[in-house]
Amino acid sequence: MASQSQQLHIILIPFLAQSHILPILDFAKLLSQRDLLITILTTPLNSISIQSMIDHATISTHAKIILITVPFPSIQVGLPEGCENMDTLPSPDMAFNLFAGCDMLQEPVLKMLSEFEVRPSAIVSSNALAWTGQVACSLGVPRYAFQTISCFSMLVSHNVGRMNVGESVVSDTEAFEVRDLPDKIVITKLQMPKTGLQRGADVKSIVQKMKEAEGFTRGMVVNSFEEMEPRYVEGFKNMGRRIWCIGPVSLCNQDSVDKLERGGRRGAIDENVCLKWLDSMARRSVIYACFGSIGRIPSAQIIETGLGLEASECPFIWIIRKKDVSEQVEKWLDDEKFEGRVRGRGLIIRGWAPQVAILSHPSVGGFITHCGWNSTLEAICAGVPMITWPMFAEQFYNEKLVVNVLKIGVRVGVEIGMKSELEDENKVFVTRVQVTEAIEHLMDDPERITRAKELSKLATKATSDGGSSFLNITALIQDIMEQTISK
Ligand code: UDP
Repeated sequence: MASQSQQLHIILIPFLAQSHILPILDFAKLLSQRDLLITILTTPLNSISIQSMIDHATISTHAKIILITVPFPSIQVGLPEGCENMDTLPSPDMAFNLFAGCDMLQEPVLKMLSEFEVRPSAIVSSNALAWTGQVACSLGVPRYAFQTISCFSMLVSHNVGRMNVGESVVSDTEAFEVRDLPDKIVITKLQMPKTGLQRGADVKSIVQKMKEAEGFTRGMVVNSFEEMEPRYVEGFKNMGRRIWCIGPVSLCNQDSVDKLERGGRRGAIDENVCLKWLDSMARRSVIYACFGSIGRIPSAQIIETGLGLEASECPFIWIIRKKDVSEQVEKWLDDEKFEGRVRGRGLIIRGWAPQVAILSHPSVGGFITHCGWNSTLEAICAGVPMITWPMFAEQFYNEKLVVNVLKIGVRVGVEIGMKSELEDENKVFVTRVQVTEAIEHLMDDPERITRAKELSKLATKATSDGGSSFLNITALIQDIMEQTISK
């Protein structure tokens, strides 16, 4: 197979968000270990951090990963110049402008790929980039949708979609059971991703485009592993869908530099300081709190979270994203001398943290997470139990998977997603007492830790030679090859 597959040329196109770029880059590394030629297509500003990660990944191997860029029309779609990623949007509402900018890439990308010296064999692109299906069709190659959510979330979304809850469930806060699932899963309308509820024209058109793209999509590549959610994978396959679970892809970052480089070094902290600090802490004693790359958190909530972490008396690493470090937050940190108060047991990182490196450190014993799928999987890989604090999108579904199905997490206790507009900087969704109680609860159950460790072992096994995800990558390559031959 190696000699045949050597001729395959896979084009990877991630949506412009860290939660798509990082796993697709990890997937590129995994594919490149199979002697394929890989091209990643992105925009100029996103290419900077991607290039440094590729350089490191290919330096010691013979991997062939090429990076090409297409200019992004920020100004044309009403975004500030240089805004090419969800994490640099001035406001979450402008996500639609970013989607519009991505849609405008269809023509230039088709032109670029048609003129490529080595003909593409397949496109693997984020599910959100529906237009890549048409590009693949024009090129006469198969398109595979890369899913950055679990089969559990996909099945829940699919079944909720069939329940017509808009009419059958009257109140937004009324709990209802999702039908036809392997487990009893109860949610409210307020916990559904916004796309399921709000039928704004923009959201509707994005969802509609994704649906239409299914006709141009050969199958789904899912960043998950079969042993974690076998009945949900099965449920999806039973719907007649072709799916390949190939994750958790972040496990390809085995050496410490890979882990530290993931996401590109952004200078928020000297990584060695962070790791030395962790080295000085007792095994499984540290709580790591980080809420992903996209969402915004009101200043009052940031302060309340800090007070909760302090009151827990546990050592902690607390990430405050740059855009959340408001004047109010800075002033509070200064006035209260908060960093001095927690010195020796609390480390605050303002900006980007080397998350995979932190989570895999033996001193980390718990993760307060917004339940983004990548973060959830990274905790699973590290065998770290979670305190779940979902905020938006399918994160409430991920909470159900972690707490009710896998039983490796405790809820902080949020019932309602944070509004994306977040006009009220004084809004507190979770109290300091909820934070401390959840930490106490998480740390006091040895069985939860045992289950988390077991799952971590299964994840490692799945991605090792001969494991289910390893074999699914082989099967995917085989499928691409067969598609290529049949053309
Ligand atoms: N991440 C990181 N450092 C940070 C924040 C996030 O490395 O300070 C990474 C994290 O490891 C994950 C991704 O960014 O791979 C975030 O994706 P996720 O799906 O968890 O959440 P989102 O950013 O979409 O809300």
